[in-house]
Amino acid sequence: MKPFWITTSWDDGHRLDLRLADLLDQYDLRGTFYVARDLLDERLSEAEIAGLAARHEIGAHTLTHPGLTEIDPGTARREIVDSRAWLQDVTGSAITAFCPPRGAINPAVRHLIADAGYEVARTVELYRLDVGDDRLMLPTTINVYPFPLRPSSSIRARFQPIQRALPHVPTLRLPLWALRSWPALAIALLDRVAQIGGVWHLWGHSWEIEHHGLWADLERVLAATRRYPDAHRVTNTELARAIF
Ligand SMILES: [Zn+2]
Repeated sequence: MKPFWITTSWDDGHRLDLRLADLLDQYDLRGTFYVARDLLDERLSEAEIAGLAARHEIGAHTLTHPGLTEIDPGTARREIVDSRAWLQDVTGSAITAFCPPRGAINPAVRHLIADAGYEVARTVELYRLDVGDDRLMLPTTINVYPFPLRPSSSIRARFQPIQRALPHVPTLRLPLWALRSWPALAIALLDRVAQIGGVWHLWGHSWEIEHHGLWADLERVLAATRRYPDAHRVTNTELARAIF
């Protein structure tokens, strides 16, 4: 089998991340949890973050979750630097992964992330089966999100998930049945990476999984990873260190 990596990442630091971590443990998977300090009311306590760090990776996700490309560089720098310092205090270990809120990154923000000492930064780019060529612009494969349609009153928003996926179906040589449901798509992508080698990067938000009722779907997809016992199961930083 060609080298095959499985990684997962989870944004925002909601308390339901503990449920996610239990699921990952159950299926022998690793996760990077990107925690924002001041974003959610129902957020992980510092003790819970420290507990999570013992089993998985903790990454920074700023303090207040701003769009880093829209604020002044001094404030952006503080969000990037201080969130790392805070999490290093909380976990007692080095924080090496960062995720810019909503994937908002440009060359100036990328520079601030590098300057702050991070080794890897994850974007929100989807449908990639590799790591790209920049460890501070790490793409992903699949987001835990309603598919093929999103529940929305706006027709345009409703069709957005399938619309975004369609161009990748021929490029990634996915079977058409993959468009049937979110688990079908996620598992087709997993099977494809197993064939050609590369990275399957699953990401999401525990609060969104709860909101859209996707826990059972997620568990089905995590269970499918058991077909591939030889795949390397890694955190985002471990992935970057292994490949770059
Ligand atoms: Zn976020």
